[in-house]
Amino acid sequence: MRKPLIAGNWKMNTDSGSAAELAYGIAARADEFTSAELLVCPPSPYLALVRDAIGDAAVGLGAQNMYHEPSGAFTGEVSAAMLADIGAQYVILGHSERRHVFGESDEEVNKKTFAAYAANLRPIVCVGELLAEREAGKTAEVIRRQFEGSLASISEQQIRSTVIAYEPVWAIGTGKVATVEQAEEVHADLRKQLAACYNTSVAQTVRILYGGSVKPDNAAQLLGQANIDGALIGGASLKPDDFLAIAAAGVATVQA
Ligand code: PEP
Repeated sequence: MRKPLIAGNWKMNTDSGSAAELAYGIAARADEFTSAELLVCPPSPYLALVRDAIGDAAVGLGAQNMYHEPSGAFTGEVSAAMLADIGAQYVILGHSERRHVFGESDEEVNKKTFAAYAANLRPIVCVGELLAEREAGKTAEVIRRQFEGSLASISEQQIRSTVIAYEPVWAIGTGKVATVEQAEEVHADLRKQLAACYNTSVAQTVRILYGGSVKPDNAAQLLGQANIDGALIGGASLKPDDFLAIAAAGVATVQA
């Protein structure tokens, strides 16, 4: 049984006060959701503050991005070791906004993935097709290419600590959500790809999250799919009640 992972990507939102408030709001009720794993990914400047606000509550801490080099003259960048040092356990890599706003390639995502393992961070590697690619019937091909490129040469041990997030680009922040059939089809393909590249045990172990306008009112249906193991949530992760309502939908799938 894969424990659902409910991850909030706060993106470039909040300030120090609202980040702490959001973290306190989630941490205060975290013990109601222990059948799921809760994770918050605040902006980098607030990681330490959010870590302190979480305290001993069962809420993980993740970063939204990092650079692949361990240290050096890379002005403005943050390394995996720095994130681990400050208490992060996870890092989101290859988010569609990184790929499409900042031009990040599969090759770069792959380098970052290796750097994350080296620092004992668990990467959440995002893949997802553009609307034009879906309309051209290229979804499966795009996802396969991103999987192969972003996760190239990753060992069995490393892939076991990796989370994959399927986020159709056209559904992120748009209010358009993939139908459960569309999402489940891609998730099932990704799991087949894991089995083909590694083995059935890996395929059954690695969690594959869905992301793209997940809200309290669509979470139960999405998380109820056999191959959807949690959610990567943008907008709805900025309100504790909404984030925790989605977590409750994750918990319900375990109890079902
Ligand atoms: C995301 O940031 O990864 C995301 C899926 O955003 P939203 O939930 O707002 O679509």
